[in-house]
Amino acid sequence: ELPENPMPWERESAQDLYLAQIVLNRPVDRVFHYLVPESMRALLRAGHRVQVPFGRGNQLIPGYCVGVGPADENQPSIRLKTVETILDSRPLFDAKMLKLTRWIADRYLCSWGQVLECVVPAGVKNQAGTRMVTVFELAAPSHLAGDESAALIEKLPAKQRAVFDALKLAEKPLTLEALTQAANCGSGPVQSLKKKSLIRSHQKRMQHFENDDDVVHAHIKKQDDLQLNPDQCRALDQILAAIRGQRSETFVLHGVTGSGKTEVYIQAIREVVSYGQQAIVLVPEISLTPQAIQRFRSRFDSVAVLHSHLSDSDRHYHWQNIAAGKVQVIVGARSAVFAPAPHLGLIIIDEEHETSFKQETAPRYHAREVARQRSELESVPLILGSATPTLNSWLRVIEKKDTLISMAKRVNDLPMPNVNIIDVRNDVQIRRNDSIGRVLFTGMQHALGAGGQVILFLNLRGYSPALWCKGCGNSVKCPHCEISLTWHRDKNLAVCHSCDFSAKPPTHCPGCGAPGLRFVGTGTQRLEEEVKAKFPGYKCQRMDSDTMRGAGSHARVLNAFASGEVDILLGTQMIAKGLDFPNVTLVGVVDADTMLHQPDLFASERTFQLIAQVAGRTGRGMQGGRVFVQTASPSEPAILKAAEHDFLGFAKYEMGHRKEMLAPPYAHYARVILRGPQEEHVQEFARQLSQILSDAAEEKKLSVQILGPAPAPIIRLKKYFRYHFQLAAVNVEEILQLWREVDGKLPREKGIEYIIDVDPVNM
Ligand code: ADP
Ligand code: ZN
Repeated sequence: ELPENPMPWERESAQDLYLAQIVLNRPVDRVFHYLVPESMRALLRAGHRVQVPFGRGNQLIPGYCVGVGPADENQPSIRLKTVETILDSRPLFDAKMLKLTRWIADRYLCSWGQVLECVVPAGVKNQAGTRMVTVFELAAPSHLAGDESAALIEKLPAKQRAVFDALKLAEKPLTLEALTQAANCGSGPVQSLKKKSLIRSHQKRMQHFENDDDVVHAHIKKQDDLQLNPDQCRALDQILAAIRGQRSETFVLHGVTGSGKTEVYIQAIREVVSYGQQAIVLVPEISLTPQAIQRFRSRFDSVAVLHSHLSDSDRHYHWQNIAAGKVQVIVGARSAVFAPAPHLGLIIIDEEHETSFKQETAPRYHAREVARQRSELESVPLILGSATPTLNSWLRVIEKKDTLISMAKRVNDLPMPNVNIIDVRNDVQIRRNDSIGRVLFTGMQHALGAGGQVILFLNLRGYSPALWCKGCGNSVKCPHCEISLTWHRDKNLAVCHSCDFSAKPPTHCPGCGAPGLRFVGTGTQRLEEEVKAKFPGYKCQRMDSDTMRGAGSHARVLNAFASGEVDILLGTQMIAKGLDFPNVTLVGVVDADTMLHQPDLFASERTFQLIAQVAGRTGRGMQGGRVFVQTASPSEPAILKAAEHDFLGFAKYEMGHRKEMLAPPYAHYARVILRGPQEEHVQEFARQLSQILSDAAEEKKLSVQILGPAPAPIIRLKKYFRYHFQLAAVNVEEILQLWREVDGKLPREKGIEYIIDVDPVNM
């Protein structure tokens, strides 16, 4: 029964109510219903950003409209609030993108609002690079055609007439500046015309720069596509068949380093561009080198490069151009998978094994899986290229879910480089504490002597990775993390590579008080010193995140190396990827063991990938190439197989191992990480949570195993103690279902935070 005086929202029948479904950038995955005022009905669409009142204080906060329409019968007639404003002139998401983002929220256990918030760059939200300007246009034709107006126009003074004609000619609104310039007058005549109501003005948002230079690279010399070799032709044909059939097929393009994968990508893109479609190419941030970008820009008219150094306004500008369909190729890191291309034709992920495709903050999505989903939604093919595919992709190939394309040989019949494993336990040191042994040293002498260039790889930056106390045998740890401090000699600082803590190195051991701490081990700084001492006649350049701070420093160093000005390039994983310098005849892996002995399920896979990739940097010219890998574990399969360029052998070995342990890719893991200021509390709470989850799994008959809890590999990080446990299941849906079962009902513990990371890349 209705009350006597119905409230306004109860007066209408449910069908008359027009509602918007709104999601917010908060961890709770909920959809809120808001009333859409009459004036907004024609404007508001799903995909719009809006402002809505929220909470008790009705504070206005931004949200995303994910659906809009008449309320259905079942809509509970509760007090609904009203959408306040629409924030953008056009929706930011289409129906497919809304579906994709909803899928991410489900798959990575976060809220829809968090995903949408992450998809739109800040520069788009704050409309960076735009401002409101006044523009002028002619009054409505019906008004101008009136007798009175016609008479007015007849009698206009010359300058006003010029303004009027300029607008007529332009056939679009003009700014005051453009208008006065076109009519060659001041602002006076414009204002007079406005007073006479012959022209009118309104506010319009305009871009600061009307300069397409960054998208249309007219100044870059265009190059013709290469003549493909038979392997490349075969690869391209398979991909073209899927493009023409509009199939969402996934190809794992397994091509050894230098097999010409990029040329295959380019010619596949050529096809979709010829249909007026766009292609997205995802590359690791590290590979967004000028060298790689140039290859795309020299082949296509409009390439948008989305790298992390873009300004907000550039990002906004690219977003608009992409959304307008003006961009043919979008090249970018992880987040480019969300590029709002209206006619997507192809997605490519190069170096698909890279861990940087996984986002480490919420939403913790993996761009490869998102791309897979997007390719299905849009019915376009996906190419996953790598010389060292992930075992995840490999299993899908074995199970015939994805299509394998192999390119086993380098282009132009170049041989794979010869890889020598050097057992450092038998190698002769030239001086004590040297990192470059006799064998590597001699190899370098020969290579450089013959006019070749050398790349040295060492995955530790700083001077020495430990400050070691003879007295107690311990090394000095960061006061906030369970991590040894690295000595940076140039600034004489002991630095934590986890939290950036730094201090003057202590003279006495903080543990036992003994004097005389020793700097042990070698980082890139010390290696640089050693190389300079051993090869005084050659120019050596270090490339790590300490030397590559300024914008453009990357390009400078790589250009110097390309031109031959630098003979020896040494650095961290920065130099392991994608570089293509034909004159590099020797690559040295100074210490292969640093990666191998990390307490991580994937350590072996990573080691294999890194050695194979680093080795791929040599032998790209006619002089051939050699690789020297220094290790104390020469019989380790990851190292042996990489040396033999034997991905299949490594995959077989490692997959056998994983299968036995029921580890990825044979199972899915979701990692729950807890952190708090007191170790016992964190440990106890981890035990509690894992118990609740294990009970719930049993009750709901879900085959989810709980592994742990245990201290995280780095137990103390940035002052917090960390524990973790894994939820493991063959079918990821069971993990997701279990979490949803308990989510929202889990106890809270003051000061302790926890997150869940589905399919983590580090464990
Ligand atoms: P990958 O990406 O597989 O490591 P790239 O695409 O970088 O290999 O190719 C390696 C080198 O071979 C590049 O310098 C490229 O220009 C050249 N190349 C690729 N395809 C051909 C071809 N069909 N004919 C001649 N050179 C080619
Ligand atoms: Zn620290």
